[in-house]
Amino acid sequence: MGHITVQRHPHDTYGGCCPIHHDCLEGLASGPAIEGRYHTLAQMLPEEHPAWSLQAYYLGQMTANLLLTLSPERIIFGGGVMKQPALLPLILEETDERLHGYLQLPKPLNEIVTKPSFDGLSGLMGAIALGADALKEQGAAQ
Ligand SMILES: [Zn+2]
Repeated sequence: MGHITVQRHPHDTYGGCCPIHHDCLEGLASGPAIEGRYHTLAQMLPEEHPAWSLQAYYLGQMTANLLLTLSPERIIFGGGVMKQPALLPLILEETDERLHGYLQLPKPLNEIVTKPSFDGLSGLMGAIALGADALKEQGAAQ
């Protein structure tokens, strides 16, 4: 869903890095988009860099759209760009501003929109859980 259309920030002149759509969400708000826009890796940008509020501007649009269309119980943001601790609070702020009280959420926004529980180890933890389930099923079948 990274290729959805988002409203461009009025001061954003970057063309976007998506080879298909150019300025879709992926083209404007991703690690490669940060590299293309600022000519450096995302992890090199300090917490107070304007890149983060611009990322949040786009990711907050996606989050608000997801909440408005699918009412998900949880939206989990992972990946390299999310390693910047300042980003998630900015996304929450942007999402809240976009929703403007329109939705009655079942729980606070910061409990719906989160980072992965096992930050960076989710794949490994999932594999362990699947393995444990398979062993339990095998034991139950005997
Ligand atoms: Zn695209």
